[in-house]
Amino acid sequence: MSHWSIPFVNDEYHAVARMMKGFNAPVYGFYEPIPAIVKVNGRRCHVFACAAVGCGQKIKRYLDKNDKCSTSNLRSHSKKCWGEEAFEKAHEVKDLAKIREVVGRAKNSPNGNVAAMFACSEGKGIVSYMHRQHTTEEARAVIVKWVAQSMRPFSIVEDPGFHMLMKTGRPMYWIPSAATVARDVKHVFDNTKKRIAKILQVGGLNRERGNSGMC
Ligand SMILES: [Zn+2]
Repeated sequence: MSHWSIPFVNDEYHAVARMMKGFNAPVYGFYEPIPAIVKVNGRRCHVFACAAVGCGQKIKRYLDKNDKCSTSNLRSHSKKCWGEEAFEKAHEVKDLAKIREVVGRAKNSPNGNVAAMFACSEGKGIVSYMHRQHTTEEARAVIVKWVAQSMRPFSIVEDPGFHMLMKTGRPMYWIPSAATVARDVKHVFDNTKKRIAKILQVGGLNRERGNSGMC
């Protein structure tokens, strides 16, 4: 049976602080900055807590092994938890402080999603990803936005390759039919047209009032 204890002795704390200076790989940015120091069955180890809200994953690294600085378990979890793309972007960013800043912002997003992942570099903007699967309504909305902005045919949502990409790792992901996307795009277009017409009417009215001296 495993026995856990937390010896927060000052010396030990300073030792980990010294060791942490070597923790500069981008992957550390996905974990709480200070690992816990614990003993498991008499063996000392560092425990890295995943920074993602609600994840709770803790990765142990034993200090009496040759791979005490190995990041392979940390890497493997962060890829699964935050996604391959976020992981790759963190490695493009390299700067651990910046990665921590972005991860910190993401985990505190008010709606519980972990979004706003990485600014690859100055001036490139922030790429945002949700940390959970879309609801049906969200999936409909983002697909409408995507096909409209990127000028994709409605039928793309029925493409087997698209299904493979979307459902790998999340087979329950709901994808609308091409007919639903077509209907949603028309609905959004009609609503937008009405809104713009109203804005133009109000603008025209204000100009008329301005010209006639009304207020
Ligand atoms: Zn995690």
